Amino acid sequence: MNIVMLGPPGSGKGTQAQYLVKRFGLVHISTGDLFREILKNPDHPLYQEVRVVNEGKLVSDDVTNRVVENAIEKLKDSKGIIFDGYPRTISQAQALDRMMSSVNMKVDVVLDLNVTQEVILYRLLGRRICPNCRKIYHVNDGYTQCPDCKVPLRVRDDDNEETIVKRLKEYNEWAAHLKDYYSKSNSVYISLTIDDVSKTSQEVQEEVIQEFSKRGLV
Ligand SMILES: [Zn+2]
Repeated sequence: MNIVMLGPPGSGKGTQAQYLVKRFGLVHISTGDLFREILKNPDHPLYQEVRVVNEGKLVSDDVTNRVVENAIEKLKDSKGIIFDGYPRTISQAQALDRMMSSVNMKVDVVLDLNVTQEVILYRLLGRRICPNCRKIYHVNDGYTQCPDCKVPLRVRDDDNEETIVKRLKEYNEWAAHLKDYYSKSNSVYISLTIDDVSKTSQEVQEEVIQEFSKRGLV
């Protein structure tokens, strides 16, 4: 089963992807990880094209597609792939469809974690990080210092309301095109609305599995 994950920053998409990886034996593909892997190897054929990342620039659609294609070819005998952070544009989504069909695979499911702005702000504004071990806590956990390292927890610089709202707006703009594209495609489109701040990632995981089960996917 191949899955495309959609969800704004702070939606817990990465955590849900990890659950699905374990549950279904899938391979997780994130373009960020693929770029980092290439940057470790100056002899990689796409090294020069990907290097722009280090200058804070975006890698072009074409190069991103080639990087993903390279990864898919190595995974054609896997149980399935979960895409996280890709595709981001219609042209990437179309390219992904072509790449998948060339290895006799397809995007079976699109999982859209539709987390409300209120919940995202609650999660991210309450987020505290240990500067030592990088473990993340929430103010409601009641810690002022890391229980492991005994150093004061901090707020990350980009966890402020203005930055978060800006990132959400950017996400909503590009994701709208993809939601439209995938809702008209042959992929099973599952949208889960999360509007309750007290809902745990475990509970979301259970709902995801229920949705899969309703559609005969598990
Ligand atoms: Zn720590």
